[in-house]
Amino acid sequence: MTPVARAEIVVDLAAIRHNVRTLRELTGVPSMTVVKADGYGHGMVEVARAARAAGSEWLGVTTIDEALALRASGDDGPLLCWLTVPGDDWAAAIDAGIDVTAYSVAELDEIAATGRSARVQLKVDTGLSRGGATLADWPAVVARAEQGERDGSWRITGIWSHFAASDDPDHPANDAQERVFHQALALAGGLTPEVRHLANSAAGILRPSSRLDLVRFGLASYGLDPAPGRTPDLGLVPAMTARATLAMTKRIHAGDGVSYGHTWIADTDTTVGLVPAGYGDGIPRHASNAAHVLVEGKQRAMRGRVCMDQFVVDLDGDSPAPGADVVIFGPGTHGEPTAQDWAEAAGTISYEIVTRIGGRFARRHVNA
Ligand SMILES: *Cc1c(COP(=O)(O)O)cnc(C)c1O
Repeated sequence: MTPVARAEIVVDLAAIRHNVRTLRELTGVPSMTVVKADGYGHGMVEVARAARAAGSEWLGVTTIDEALALRASGDDGPLLCWLTVPGDDWAAAIDAGIDVTAYSVAELDEIAATGRSARVQLKVDTGLSRGGATLADWPAVVARAEQGERDGSWRITGIWSHFAASDDPDHPANDAQERVFHQALALAGGLTPEVRHLANSAAGILRPSSRLDLVRFGLASYGLDPAPGRTPDLGLVPAMTARATLAMTKRIHAGDGVSYGHTWIADTDTTVGLVPAGYGDGIPRHASNAAHVLVEGKQRAMRGRVCMDQFVVDLDGDSPAPGADVVIFGPGTHGEPTAQDWAEAAGTISYEIVTRIGGRFARRHVNA
């Protein structure tokens, strides 16, 4: 008999392929599927394969290590990484045919010092004030980039930036950043990048003017909504289901306190169930007393605090057998809560729910 998983993440790769195709068709421009942070918790290598199979031209990750891991898995398509620190192994990335991103003249100098001919994309900071060259520093970065093209150090394959408030289409930063991006492109007229890109999921969906040559789709590829309440229904399918096996049930009485600190006290006699996953596995403690799970077709309220390894739900007098299936979140098609519901319960965003869940969860991919 196959042992039952105590707690597992099931990733539907057919959903990923569907989402990648849907988004690619929506924009009509090439897509980069962003698979950083272990594919937003879904498994970087498996998601990358699904994205390529669905026609995603590019993959994007944060670090050189992530990009090298993709190459080691056999991926050899266009691949961009975008966050380095001094001393990172630029040479390995260049040898592996990875597009690296430079934010500054110092980074370009580091790339030149490898003595290799690189594929380099330049990032301009159009208003996020995170990575990238500010507009003030941009002319010097462009000048150094042009010099490196002349001396064969690299080809500048892309110029790109990133929005601060793309989940809020009315935010004035969006127009402002797009204007600055076009200014930066004009200042880089001596370069001939293959791709100019600015949009992430929310912008790619909500702001056609930002699609340019490429959209970097992260969250939406996983079927989650990057701008809840603002995104039209595109039929995206959440790919991740987190489930567990009910460990035990018991009867408790009115007045009994549940879990650490007794932050919930039963006001009537009831039954409760023990779910064997906790904050050590990425179940957010901030969702204590607020989230729900599905057991035997009904949503059950979490009672008391999330512990490191477990939490308790109210079974409202029902007594499912230990071993029953507990759906923590999923696509929502069978009445279960979604990652978005958990995000709201925990006061965060669905990005954080799926990316942090892990720990001792097993992970299984279906529909490869
Ligand atoms: C993570 C990331 C993305 C993807 O963002 P989503 O909102 O998940 O689509 C795109 N671009 C950059 C630079 C990122 O860091």
